[in-house]
Amino acid sequence: MTQAPTSSRAFVSLIGAGPGDPGLLTLRGQHALQHADVVLFDYLANPELLRWCPDAHTIYVGKKGFSEYITQEQINALIVRTAQEGGGQRVARLKGGDVFVFGRGGEEAEACALAGIGFEIVPGVTSAIAAPAYAGIPVTHRDVARSFAVLTGNTKEGGAHYERLSGVDTLLLLMGVRNLDTIAADLIASGRDPQTPAATVQWGSTHQQRVAVGTLETIAQVVKDAGLEAPAVTVVGEVVKLREKLRWFDNAPTFGGPLAGKTVAVTRTRDGSSALSDVLRGRGADVLEVPLIRFDAAADGGDGALTALRDFRGWLLLSSNQAVTALFSLLDAAGLDARALANVKLAAVGPSTARSLAERGLRADFVPSTPGARHLGAELPAEAGEATLHLTSQLAEDELQRALEARSIGYMRAELYRTEAAAPDENRLERLKNAAVLTLASGSAARHLARLADADFNPLDTPVAAMGPQTAEAAREAGFTRVVVAATASLEALADAAERAVRGES
Ligand code: SAH
Repeated sequence: MTQAPTSSRAFVSLIGAGPGDPGLLTLRGQHALQHADVVLFDYLANPELLRWCPDAHTIYVGKKGFSEYITQEQINALIVRTAQEGGGQRVARLKGGDVFVFGRGGEEAEACALAGIGFEIVPGVTSAIAAPAYAGIPVTHRDVARSFAVLTGNTKEGGAHYERLSGVDTLLLLMGVRNLDTIAADLIASGRDPQTPAATVQWGSTHQQRVAVGTLETIAQVVKDAGLEAPAVTVVGEVVKLREKLRWFDNAPTFGGPLAGKTVAVTRTRDGSSALSDVLRGRGADVLEVPLIRFDAAADGGDGALTALRDFRGWLLLSSNQAVTALFSLLDAAGLDARALANVKLAAVGPSTARSLAERGLRADFVPSTPGARHLGAELPAEAGEATLHLTSQLAEDELQRALEARSIGYMRAELYRTEAAAPDENRLERLKNAAVLTLASGSAARHLARLADADFNPLDTPVAAMGPQTAEAAREAGFTRVVVAATASLEALADAAERAVRGES
């Protein structure tokens, strides 16, 4: 195979990650992440966005929490070096808010230009506008504000600088919490009315959002009393009053629930559905997806499963979504389709697996009343002597087999896919340590997670929410002590269980 000239792949996307709500990443930003080989991300860029690039190498270059201080020059050099490495890589540089609003993105772009590396700028939603918006404060309003200015509290210019802004209606102050008293005093000294409404929004657009409201005269003290710190945007202007009418995000029913602002680790597989993550995000959780297992092709490439399926008459047992996915990839690779299943009866282990079948136009002939291998084995409406074929991974447990054989129903198994352990990368592991609750959808996830225990991290101490009674049992066996079980086999029920787990119930 011939390769394109290697240097052609070196490319840098400078991406504005938005203010915190992961939904505020642009489609173009998402696209760039999906195609990145390496992602360099910041303290202010929500690490949840890394879910768009599960296979990319990630490097944290934030200044906060980074043991050695990394200078802007070092970051610029790192971007260039990373893009040039390995004959050229696609680098996604994720920056909080917008790339060019006090983001030093200009310098990073210059470094690329100087090194002759192709780059693109993907503007982001700046916190200067979004944090007020999530606090119900529009930066302009036809009746009260026709202009706004974004300024940094890090400047030493003070008074003279503020006088130049005297005609601007709304001021948006970034990086200004620490010096808020001086800045407010300077603004008053430069002629702004001390009674001008002012509000400070911390962690805007996230479920940790906190807002303090006062006047230019009082805001520094109000912020101090409320204990607000960086990152925060302070809005000065009449528009602040509109919050009384327009407050929406931080009084919505989903705001401040038990999961709000909490990290919920969703243990899952790389290709699995993130529907649970969406449900949890809807309840305000910061979701950390932790791929603990990875699916590979069966050791024999699926030949055994195909052979077993050929001419099979009887019940085909599907005990996971992955089995359905793997089955269809296998059929597809063999030039077959759903018609290859025309002569079998389909049994799904639970409603979710049944749904996976339904998505492919197939109705499960049987789903047990309670999801789980044991119930499937006990309830399958098969006659004694009838055959069953279980297409599953190499890790299949014997439960189903035992339950069926106890009823004199024939049982055959063939390896359809392999489940391999996958350890989370360093960044994920670091965040996993702070998770308030872990969700487990399978016993094997529980066992894989238990194996991550080491000297400074014991996942077994973290509360877990288990998808069903069998998963809960497996979790307890693996050593988890704080296990809450979902009442039914639905994502909402699992999210409820996560809430109970966070509250310390069991
Ligand atoms: N490029 C970024 C700003 C980087 S400077 C942007 O466009 O938003 C860092 C400052 O941004 C912080 O000190 C704080 O003032 C502000 N900031 C970033 N994210 C924020 C958030 N979620 N809520 C409030 N302020 C935020």
